[in-house]
Order: sequence, then structure tokens, then C-alpha cells
Amino acid sequence: MSMRKKHVVVLATGGTIAGIGKPGSDTGYVPGQIAAEDLVKSVPEISNYAEVSAEQVCNVNSDDMTDALWLKLSRRIAELEADDSVDGIVVTHGTDTMDETAFFVSLTVRCEKAVIFTGSMKPATAKNPDGPANLLGAVRAAAGFAVDDDPPANKVWVYFAGELFDARRVQKCDASALNAMGVDGPGVGADWNAPQEPNYFDVSRCESLPRVNVVYFTVDANPKILEYAACVSDGLVIAGAGSGEFSKEWASVLEKIDIPVVIASRTHHGNVTLNETLAPGRISAGTLPPQKAAVLLRLALVTTSKVSEIRRMFSA
Ligand code: ASP
Repeated sequence: MSMRKKHVVVLATGGTIAGIGKPGSDTGYVPGQIAAEDLVKSVPEISNYAEVSAEQVCNVNSDDMTDALWLKLSRRIAELEADDSVDGIVVTHGTDTMDETAFFVSLTVRCEKAVIFTGSMKPATAKNPDGPANLLGAVRAAAGFAVDDDPPANKVWVYFAGELFDARRVQKCDASALNAMGVDGPGVGADWNAPQEPNYFDVSRCESLPRVNVVYFTVDANPKILEYAACVSDGLVIAGAGSGEFSKEWASVLEKIDIPVVIASRTHHGNVTLNETLAPGRISAGTLPPQKAAVLLRLALVTTSKVSEIRRMFSA
């Protein structure tokens, strides 16, 4: 009996995986150049595992991602989730902000099918590009083929350099290594039994997202940057030292800021317990690193600016 091949849709957004540079060189390329269809065609083995259709959502360096592109991507994924002819979804994306976009999608789409993000560290024109193997692995995973002995469950993942990471925990942990993606704490990347992201935000009617900026604390950092950031933001995340700490000088400036503020750690690992002396009444990012705390705060602010409610979302 022959089984129907799974139908996987590849949504391309750009990044180094679609980058073009000097033939044979790993550096000095322009990301987001190759069209979605050509990206898929360049890996013919894909057709052994799935029937693939390719769509271009955008073609950008992922540092140029915007709330408008996030909303567009999330809506398209929601449509594909509801389409019975589709079995799985792959998103190709630059690695720089892949963790933010994957987390955003996990918070805004109720997934019945696996959504697998992937990308590459070398451009398509490099001598040994890593994009083709990553794309093949992502399509295989989206089509239900096992990674680490388990097929990915119905949620959002990043497949990279042979490993699968869940969207809540994944981070880009290395600026240059081929296995640049890792997790925000000890343990393996994929937790097969972890529940779907407990927060869900309906963004179907949003045209834009509130602005949240991350302010990074260092020794002697001028607290005026907090004041400035507060003027140009709807909410703030502080990337504090250690368990989310900062100087007394910062604490006294923070006291006067009246927008929601989330305290995260610039270590990007571990759990932040709120220091009520330094930051009374503020919100702990928990285990979320600053860039992901910013994603969750933006979404929280779509529905509320009440600190108690935002705190509940951060502890979910
Ligand atoms: N700057 C690139 C991007 O994020 C890096 C990459 O894709 O690896 O789009």
C-alpha cells in the first residue's frame, strides 16, 4: 500500500539561508536574496520526503523583521493550520532573530500541526553551505519524520544542525558556530512532553504591536538611558546583571517610570526572582531572556497594561 506523501508548505522570510555572496566565501554576503521556490528547488532530496509548496512572506535580513511582518507570518501560519491539505509548515528565517519570531508564532497561533523554523549560518553560495541540510531536516520534521527518535509534536520548533529546540527555550547562543542555536537553560533542546505555550494572544485584528525596548545594565551605565527608553516605549525590559540586578542609581530613576517594566537577566540563563527592594511592583521575566521577555510584553500590552495581569502572563 502506498502512502500519500505529506504536504509541507515552506514560508520563506529571508536570512542567510537565502543569502548570496562571492562564490566559495562564507562571509561578505547579502542575506535574503534567493526566492522561496529556488530555495526549495536547490535541495532535490526534499521530494523524497514530502510534497512541498513554497511561499515568499518577505525576503529580509532577520534584523529587519518588524511587527507588521510578524503579524503577516502568524496569520498565514494560522490559515495553513486550518487548511486540511497541509500537513506541516516550515519557516525559513535569519538566525539573528529566529528565536523571537518563533516565540511570537508560538504565542499567537494555536498549532495542530508542527511548525518548524530553520535557517543557516553560511550563505547559499558558500563552499559548504549548511542551509540545504537544515532545510531538508526541517521539511522531514514537518512531514512527521522523527528527530532524536521522536516526531515533533504540534507546536513551534527550531530545527538547526541536526537538533530540534522548542520555541520558548531556543536562543541564538553563538555568533559564528554552525550549531548556533541552543536553549536558555540546562537540558536537552526538545522537551517532547512540554505543553503548548500556555499563553495565547489573538492578534487577528492587530495592525501593529506596542513598542517595547530592552535596556541593558552595565557598571556605571547612565540611568538617563532608562528615562529616554521610557519616553519612546509602551513597556520596558531591563536586562539586569545576574539575577536581574542593577545599581541604586538605576533603582531611583526606575521608581519614577510609570509604564510596565519587566526585569530579565543579561546572563540569558536561569530564573529571575524579583528583587522587591530594587524594583518594587515590577514584573519578573522568570526564565525568559530579555529579547523574549520583550516579545511577551508586547503581546501582553495588546490586551492590558495592568501589572497584575501581565505578571500572571509571565508566570504562566
Ligand atoms: N543576519 C542574518 C539574519 O539573521 C544572519 C543569519 O541568517 O544567520 O538574517
